[in-house]
Amino acid sequence: MSVTIFERILSGEIPCKKVWEDDHTLAFHDIAPQAPVHVLVIPKRKIVNVAQSDDADVEILGHVLLTARKVAQLLGIDVSGYRLVMNNGNDGGQTVDYLHCHVLGGRPLRWPPG
Ligand code: 5GP
Repeated sequence: MSVTIFERILSGEIPCKKVWEDDHTLAFHDIAPQAPVHVLVIPKRKIVNVAQSDDADVEILGHVLLTARKVAQLLGIDVSGYRLVMNNGNDGGQTVDYLHCHVLGGRPLRWPPG
C-alpha cells in the first residue's frame, strides 16, 4: 500500500499548520478550506477508513472524535456549531486513504451535502 500524504505529514516530511497534537491524534488545517474553519483530525496509528476499521480500533476512533471536539473549542466554534465529516470510500468522496475527520465551521453549513 502506498504512503499517503497524511503519513508524510505525520512523519514531518511535509509541513502542516498544526492545531492540536497528543499521543494519539494530530489535527491540522486543511490545505483547501471549505469553510472559515476546516481542520483535519487524523489518528497516529493508521486506519484506512471506518469501513476498514474493526473492534480493536474503538479507542482510537473515540480519540479522533474527542480531538475534533477539542479543535472546535480551541477555534471558537463549539458554541456556534460545526460539522464532522468522515468521507468513506469512492462514493463517500474519500480522496486520501488514511482515516480523517473533517471539522467544518465558522459559517452556516447547508444540508443535505451534494
Ligand atoms: P477527503 O476528500 O479524503 O475526505 O479529504 C482529504 C482532504 O485532505 C481534502 O480536504 C484536502 O484538501 C486535504 N489535503 C490534501 N492534501 C493535503 C495536504 O498536503 N495538506 C493538508 N493540510 N491538507 C491536504
